[in-house]
Amino acid sequence: MVFGARLTVLGSLNMDISVTVPRLPAPGATVLGGAAAFAPGGKGANQAVAAARLGGSVRMVGCVGNDDFGARLLAALAREGVESSGVRAVDGVPTGLAMITVDGAGENIITVAPGANREVGPAEIAAVAAWPADVLVVSAEIPVRVIEAALAAEAPAAPAGPAETPVPRSAETPAGAPGPARPLIRVLNLAPAPAEAAGLVASGVDWLVVNESEAAAVLGKPVTGLPGAARAAADLVSVGARHVVVTAGAAGAAYCGPGAEATAGVPRNQMAGGVPGERVGGSVSGEWREKSSGPAVLTVPGFRVRAVDTVGAGDTFVGALAVALAAGIAPAAAVRAAAAAAATAATRPGTQSGMPRPGDVLAATGYAWPVTAS
Ligand code: ADP
Repeated sequence: MVFGARLTVLGSLNMDISVTVPRLPAPGATVLGGAAAFAPGGKGANQAVAAARLGGSVRMVGCVGNDDFGARLLAALAREGVESSGVRAVDGVPTGLAMITVDGAGENIITVAPGANREVGPAEIAAVAAWPADVLVVSAEIPVRVIEAALAAEAPAAPAGPAETPVPRSAETPAGAPGPARPLIRVLNLAPAPAEAAGLVASGVDWLVVNESEAAAVLGKPVTGLPGAARAAADLVSVGARHVVVTAGAAGAAYCGPGAEATAGVPRNQMAGGVPGERVGGSVSGEWREKSSGPAVLTVPGFRVRAVDTVGAGDTFVGALAVALAAGIAPAAAVRAAAAAAATAATRPGTQSGMPRPGDVLAATGYAWPVTAS
């Protein structure tokens, strides 16, 4: 168990308005649905809540409108213990909205009105720089120029004072003692993948997290299933990212980067499909490492769970990964921890409301969440 994970999350905040309908409307048609449900959302806010529930000390940076929805989103962050002084309420612009129409089979149409998320700019870059953190998480529902600036900005070093230094960094840095300032880890979640995605990755990214379709958009070729995710992760490293995770829904996630060749195992009962091991003769059993040419790729099969709502699994993965990395957990173990948390989110209804706490992760997957709130 390790303690202490300071995160800044730069990204979007939306009010999600969902209506369930008997069938999705065709163009030009009107369909009567049930009562509208209002819930806080937006990738940035979702990731912030996921991280806070899993023990991160989280600060959100972004923009809302100076309106009722904005106030409700800020109140929701406060209830989750997310520090929101870096969220600017902008006059004359509405809070971001996601209008979600869902039919009885779970198929949906989503229309997003970015509103105040388009106003994220230099003030938010300054807010990021003003707060020392271990990890900066950036997602892509904000202007691309801001993403570029956040990735390029001078990193605020995370000072390691005695009151805030519970993470032993090494044998020479005992818990509770001042340690050296740690470099900021930057996690870029290119969701949704903007037109400039390939250029962003080529300019050099520390951690890149994408799903199959986002990886396909960056690489300009289809990415399907866990083997496809593994190849894509290696390809994304070769075009400029240092650590890459490609998520593949229930199939799991692939990691390429330093530490992918690590052999740290996972107890048999925690993994779908059996014991960790190398892939042999193309059959995949449990966790495996790609041994062919190119960089090592670690593939973490999805935890077997009874999924009821996978919306928010990706955001939970990103928030969980960020907490684990901020706590000093090694890359391969951090990816496994994120997969356990994301699988748990899939077992729970709602987006932010379905995001798990450590006890939920243990109950759903048997995986002991490794970070405790400081
Ligand atoms: P996104 O929501 O961004 O499209 P994915 O669907 O790839 O992201 O899901 C992210 C991660 O969540 C996956 O890599 C996996 O670890 C976990 N996950 C998603 N769906 C399930 C599921 N049905 N069962 C177990 N794990 C899941």
